[in-house]
Amino acid sequence: MTKTPYTIDVFDLMHRPGEMRDKAVDIVVPEGFGNAVIGVKAGSELRLDLRMESLHDGILVSVDVDGTASGECVRCLIDIEEPVQVEIQELFAYSHDEAFEYEVHEDTIDLEPVTRDAVVLSLPFQPVCQEDCTGLCPQCGVRLLDNPGHKHENAIDPRWAALGGLASLESLTTTDLDGSADIHGSADSAIADLDQADEEES
Ligand SMILES: [Zn+2]
Ligand SMILES: [Zn+2]
Repeated sequence: MTKTPYTIDVFDLMHRPGEMRDKAVDIVVPEGFGNAVIGVKAGSELRLDLRMESLHDGILVSVDVDGTASGECVRCLIDIEEPVQVEIQELFAYSHDEAFEYEVHEDTIDLEPVTRDAVVLSLPFQPVCQEDCTGLCPQCGVRLLDNPGHKHENAIDPRWAALGGLASLESLTTTDLDGSADIHGSADSAIADLDQADEEES
């Protein structure tokens, strides 16, 4: 069996029920792992705080895993980091019985599969940079948290656009009336109002 940074020597505990040992292991992760959006990258550091207890059947190992996962916010796509903290407890058996998932191999145990499985399970499937991340502008793609108040001038609700059309029609008519050049043939009533106004002024 090839040794990796996750390989722990348990020779001094084997077949000595009642013996116990604590050990801290700092690992530079040789191979990254995680889900599609976040994971522990190769080269990052993982700390394993171990408690190993010798039992009749094998070695019971309790591990506190500490590290950092990196990935990107699923809403705004910036790089993010999340602390990784998981606790594992597994028995590494002496026998090659199918009842036991993990075994002691040649006086060593391999913590890689248990560590990877537990860490991957603990990772979020929808990591965000912050809970209230508003993502990207659907129109131009800028990150909305970096651009508070960001909006587009032509991004008007269709209902308001209809009202805007009415308003501009009204102001157009008023201008024509003020100019007194009745080139658009305004409504008779409007002209009557204007004539009335002229009489009041004079
Ligand atoms: Zn975000
Ligand atoms: Zn925009």
